[in-house]
Amino acid sequence: MNPSASVEGPPINLVDLQAQRKAIGRGIEEAIAAVLEHGQFIMGPEVADLEAALAGITGAGEVVTCSSGTDSLVLALLAMGVGPGDMVLVPAFTFAATAEAVALLGAIPFFVDVSPTTFTIDPESLAETIAGIEREGGTRPLGVIVVDLFGQPGDYQAINDLAHDHGLWVLADAAQSLGATYRGRPVGTLSHITATSFFPAKPLGCYGDGGALFTDDLEVGTRLRSLRAHGQGADKYDNVRIGINGRLDTIQAAVLLQKLTVFGAEIRRRQEIAARYDKDLADVVVTPCVAEGSTSAWAQYTVVVEDREALRRQLSARGVPTAVYYPTPLHRHAAYKDFPIAPGGLPVSEHLADHVLSLPLHPYLDGFMQERVVEAVMAALGDTMS
Ligand SMILES: *Cc1c(COP(=O)(O)O)cnc(C)c1O
Repeated sequence: MNPSASVEGPPINLVDLQAQRKAIGRGIEEAIAAVLEHGQFIMGPEVADLEAALAGITGAGEVVTCSSGTDSLVLALLAMGVGPGDMVLVPAFTFAATAEAVALLGAIPFFVDVSPTTFTIDPESLAETIAGIEREGGTRPLGVIVVDLFGQPGDYQAINDLAHDHGLWVLADAAQSLGATYRGRPVGTLSHITATSFFPAKPLGCYGDGGALFTDDLEVGTRLRSLRAHGQGADKYDNVRIGINGRLDTIQAAVLLQKLTVFGAEIRRRQEIAARYDKDLADVVVTPCVAEGSTSAWAQYTVVVEDREALRRQLSARGVPTAVYYPTPLHRHAAYKDFPIAPGGLPVSEHLADHVLSLPLHPYLDGFMQERVVEAVMAALGDTMS
């Protein structure tokens, strides 16, 4: 194979927001102009319209938009009454914000391992951790955060059952999974409370920071609305609890309403590309495993390889960008190294951190670009494996 042939053609990007803008940019510009015209920059009509639209696509009873994915986690924890000294179980293999939200409130993130196949929190490690805490008579955890890593929902049936048996609530960190399903049910309805992010590179992203919360609990919904506006009560200047300034800007809501017009088609497109990679790459790398009965929003297409750095270098030389999410499990970060971990340790999180590699996958990656990605991986690994 001629290596130079594989770098011909337009550049391949990990995420391509400009390609999406070519498709729907005009509508977005008009929607932003409409906000500039009516001038209600905080809690303008687009915010309520977006919340209604998100309720429509998820089926959640209550949708509360907010200022970022991180703030959605903080708001959810505040709504569940988490405070200093409380314990919350979290996976070790995730983006830092999952544990940060817990620690920021003075609570303790307790790190649990993830499944070696789905990379989401491992119900067995979770059960062992809870049993260990009960055996030692330690601080009882209040809840567990499930992270739908790379777009795939966690094993909610197993985790909700376990949580129910131990009196824990379940918070879904769905920052990467909006648009995915679990046993026929959409993300947003799989646990007591769901938090998501509209960071630009997420499957549904805005043009800045944004996030949202989903629940079927009317009381939690009411609390979340109060918390995102400084804890206001029925009267705006009567604060009934301590909250934050956590509202979504009207302009971002307007952008998101436009992006929702193509969101369903974009998710299907991500799924088609993932299926193609699965088929073409399964012989040379460990391709992602989506659990039976689940679909993924494919925020990332992440493979597991023995010599990651060598593959990265070879792909880069062929014009194929890659990323490593995440190179260090949270319990190895300076800020999180003193928090407790599962009794059996976190071997899966540690292994994945050394061996995962995310390949380019976005809805505007055309067939030629997909071919170039596949060819580059085959050229790097095909021979050594045969
Ligand atoms: C992106 C992300 C967040 C944080 O979202 P922001 O909108 O960037 O604050 C939290 N958790 C996970 C798993 C994420 O991927």
